[in-house]
Amino acid sequence: MTFQITVGEASVAQVTELAAWPFPPRDLFPGVDGERAVRDAAGLGPGYADTATGELVLAIHSYVVRLGDTTVVVDAGNGNQKERPNLLPHHRFDTDFLDRFVGTGTALHDVDVVVSTHLHPDHCGWNTRLDGDRWRPTFPRATYLFGRAELASLQALAAKSPADGVPADLVRAYDDSVRPVLETGRWEAADDGHVLAEHGDTVLVLRAAPGHTAGHVVAEIRSRDGGAVICGDVVHHPIQQCCPELSQAGDADPALARRTRDDLLDRCARDGLLLLPAHFPADRPFAVAREGGRFRLAPVERP
Ligand SMILES: [Zn+2]
Repeated sequence: MTFQITVGEASVAQVTELAAWPFPPRDLFPGVDGERAVRDAAGLGPGYADTATGELVLAIHSYVVRLGDTTVVVDAGNGNQKERPNLLPHHRFDTDFLDRFVGTGTALHDVDVVVSTHLHPDHCGWNTRLDGDRWRPTFPRATYLFGRAELASLQALAAKSPADGVPADLVRAYDDSVRPVLETGRWEAADDGHVLAEHGDTVLVLRAAPGHTAGHVVAEIRSRDGGAVICGDVVHHPIQQCCPELSQAGDADPALARRTRDDLLDRCARDGLLLLPAHFPADRPFAVAREGGRFRLAPVERP
């Protein structure tokens, strides 16, 4: 499942790692009325909920942006064979993601830059792949960019060597998906406003979007003819339009995450930016509109 769109001078391909990733509603949104959430989600269209199991459905998507001579991967999915015993939905994937990635017309060695919106396991996993018993960079020529604040907070956690629970798995992600990249030396720290690529009137830039994690960023494409935002975990599921107060279980600072979500959706609605989600279970970009005090997120059927 994938789509390819043009935004200004950039071409953007979505690569789906997992088309359906089901969760009990309260595992995703601890404050939610689960039955209502599943009903609301089912009302958005097929695929957003599994009414038989009472689960909400996410997906995992990466994006490949080609702009001028530069090819950028934004969010590197969960990756295969990663040990996540405390985060079982992330544990030991075995997907054909790399075949699908190459199927979009981009070879692994074509990639110049890899950047993650944040360093949770499902956004940096394909930074590396197993080669014998060693984790090596999946994109052999790429410079990997890490949000400076995001990398610092994960390294601070790693320094504490948590023995169990979710923190232990976050450190596993550091050890198998980040540290091997740092050891190659082909990486840079990036801050708010970092330009990833620029060509003609089109620019691909990182913007700070804190809340889900302290150092979360989004990748924004801007041109005279419009724009798009690869939004990472600022928004997880379109039911957050029905219940904007829903904060996701993994939000480090729920109040800040909500402010960032409102700001981002407002920017999309005001400036006509397409939303390119990491986790919506639909292989479409989304258009954002304001409706009263809320936002309406609608898949763009023929991008
Ligand atoms: Zn995520």
